[in-house]
Amino acid sequence: MEVIKGIPVSPGVVSGRAFILEEVLERVPYHNVPESEVEGEVHRFDEAVALAIRDLQADRDRAAAKLGPEPAKIFEFHLGLLRDQTLIEPIRERIQTGRVTAPYAVAEAFRSLAERFRAMGSEVFRQKANDVLDLDRRLLSKLVGQSRDRLLRVREQVIVVSHELTPERAASLDVRKVIGCCTDAGGRTSHASIVAAALGIPVVVGCQRVSQSVNDGDQIIVDGTSGVVIVRPDVETLEQYQRDIARMADMAADLRDLALQESVTRDGVHIELLGNIEFAHEIRSLLAHGGEGVGLYRTEFLYLTSPTEPTEEEHFQAYKQSVELLNGRTLTIRTLDLGADKYTQERAEEPERNPFLGLRSIRYCLQNLPMFKTQLRAILRASAYGPIKIMFPLVSTLMELRQTKMILHDVMEECEDEGINFDPNMPMGMMVEVPSAALMASAFAREVAFFSIGTNDLIQYTLAVDRGNERVANLYTGASPAVIHLVKTIIRAGKRFNVATSLCGEIAGEPTYTMLLIGLGLRTLSLVPSQIPHVKRVVRAVDIPTCERLARKVGSFDSERQVMNTLRAELQKVLPEQGGGWSAE
Ligand code: PEP
Ligand code: MG
Repeated sequence: MEVIKGIPVSPGVVSGRAFILEEVLERVPYHNVPESEVEGEVHRFDEAVALAIRDLQADRDRAAAKLGPEPAKIFEFHLGLLRDQTLIEPIRERIQTGRVTAPYAVAEAFRSLAERFRAMGSEVFRQKANDVLDLDRRLLSKLVGQSRDRLLRVREQVIVVSHELTPERAASLDVRKVIGCCTDAGGRTSHASIVAAALGIPVVVGCQRVSQSVNDGDQIIVDGTSGVVIVRPDVETLEQYQRDIARMADMAADLRDLALQESVTRDGVHIELLGNIEFAHEIRSLLAHGGEGVGLYRTEFLYLTSPTEPTEEEHFQAYKQSVELLNGRTLTIRTLDLGADKYTQERAEEPERNPFLGLRSIRYCLQNLPMFKTQLRAILRASAYGPIKIMFPLVSTLMELRQTKMILHDVMEECEDEGINFDPNMPMGMMVEVPSAALMASAFAREVAFFSIGTNDLIQYTLAVDRGNERVANLYTGASPAVIHLVKTIIRAGKRFNVATSLCGEIAGEPTYTMLLIGLGLRTLSLVPSQIPHVKRVVRAVDIPTCERLARKVGSFDSERQVMNTLRAELQKVLPEQGGGWSAE
């Protein structure tokens, strides 16, 4: 048995068989395959080689037709390597005698060959080393593709174990088969984690070495509440966890009842609980969990799950479907938040050196106007079908906001000229998720109808801690006095200028923070739908003066540990059975 500590991302506990999802090409972990599957693994390798040869021949023929015979020769070298039995046969043997996975055997053989070429020192051999590494990637991507196909075909329920997940891959997991997930990499609020959490299954990320410790088919337990993965548990541990799983199933029935109850404090103040969604279909789950509308629709996922750029009609259909499912409740559409860990890097000719500080979100849209306008037109068209609010991500300067508003007005005029119906009074707001915007909230407040505080990014930019990097995850916390100070500044500016202010970062879904957020003055929170009943339980157990007292007390602290301990202790007082409340920290 091995116990691996990670970062809890989505609460709940599951036990089941591990499915190793080979995802990344850079770091291929060592895995054994059972004796009975060795021949299958060799066959898988042969298939990947055959597919790579077929692709290379096609690339060679295309290059010859377009560029002539000389450039096509590059592919001949690659083809020659793949047909060279002195390279290929030892890989087969390694799989058979070492009982290692095909990706591991490939990476081991190709990378050592590249090293040998590189060690020869000359430019010609250095180039050959690069060619070998290209080939390594080509073969591995075939094997990774097979791994994804295998997951699609799997019949029983499994727990996915992977070195890292991309947001796209997380979005494609089918919860009828995938009952839990754990990864080596990732942070609490990396976008892949957010999407995995939205699936409502237990998820632990940042386990650093789980993909190396687990073999395909191993029994594992993923405890998404405390952030632990137990590999090959002993009988006693398994029984203990099975009792926990049964207890949680009983609690789930209570939570379903809560979905139907009103979200009001003991002294009668309504706290509006909205949902964060990535796809229209999540609205059904949001309503089932008692959500009152959508506070954040992360529309960039339309891009992340489509091989081609979505058309205006595809945007429009997604928004119209959402409005219809909401049946009169408000849909807050955030315009494309592409960039950083979403979409643009893999497709860029040259990846950015510092993508979270680079061309992302509204900056990316302002440099890609046709794409941005396509989305704005679709949003306007959908606004004729029900209440929509539009919100811009990662605004960091007033000029940027003004430019964005001008573009929106241009698109409105175009629509008017074309006789397209839309809501001319559609409220327009912004995410406040960059310290510069938080500090200047009073100036921004004169320009927008609402603020939505994005603590996921606000924490990373205030504390200079990458939200997706497990190595600095201990420094990433919403309990930071600096972050709380900025949140307070935004709420104060919102109040002063009568700008509705809500919060949609992941802390909105952590019961540990609920009293603090209410005490700071927030009356609307937007969160992952599955957490709505948990947060509502806190709302119904507290009153405003108690929350305000807590916010004042916490405001005087200068350490995040002090803040966190106090939040936990206060929640424990009002809801002893929550045991201090679920929190990712
Ligand atoms: C945030 O930054 O808090 C937020 C809600 O946006 P995202 O997680 O999509 O960056
Ligand atoms: Mg953000």
